[in-house]
Amino acid sequence: MQLLEDRIIKDGKVFSGNVLKVDSFLNHQIDVELLDKMGSEVKQLFENENVTKVLTIEASGIGVGCMVAKHFNCPLLFAKKTKTLNIKGDVYTSKVESFTHQCTYDIIVSKDFLNETDTVLIVDDFLAKGNALIGLIKLVKEADAKVAGAAIAIEKGFQDGGDMVRKMGVRVESLAIVDSMNDDGTIVFREG
Ligand code: 5GP
Repeated sequence: MQLLEDRIIKDGKVFSGNVLKVDSFLNHQIDVELLDKMGSEVKQLFENENVTKVLTIEASGIGVGCMVAKHFNCPLLFAKKTKTLNIKGDVYTSKVESFTHQCTYDIIVSKDFLNETDTVLIVDDFLAKGNALIGLIKLVKEADAKVAGAAIAIEKGFQDGGDMVRKMGVRVESLAIVDSMNDDGTIVFREG
């Protein structure tokens, strides 16, 4: 998506350790107009999938997830992160290794909000090694719900998460795929 790529070039900052910071418009301060257009783009990509629920992970997926859900006219559900897991039987759980914080945490979703009647579109701000996305896919499967696919704002194509999840048979659509980025700030996108 050209608009997103242009914005990444303008405001994105490359940090060591393969981290791209886009917190001035995507996941800290949010450019609502831009995210609304991204939501519309995702709607067009998945419009035939009968999506009943958008699922993301707190906190940085919530902004883009909300705007996607708005275009599908369905709820946004976000998985909560927790370090202390009290299994009460009323939640679906799965484990995620954090790329940015280098720790492992559990994610939970209440059984009240996800079940076998749902067709779920998973949304996140970034796809790197795929841990967050695979954790979310596991939650959906635990609920016996259907995975419509995954819509990602920025995929780092030089990390293997995207390939891994596509090989699992899950449709992954990324609005921008970064093929390389350097410490001098140069960012190269995959040709659409
Ligand atoms: P993965 O689980 O695919 O390795 O990483 C995805 C998660 O890590 C996303 O939910 C995102 O919040 C975070 N993440 C991964 N790479 C980056 C990055 O380059 N920049 C930022 N801001 N977050 C990232």
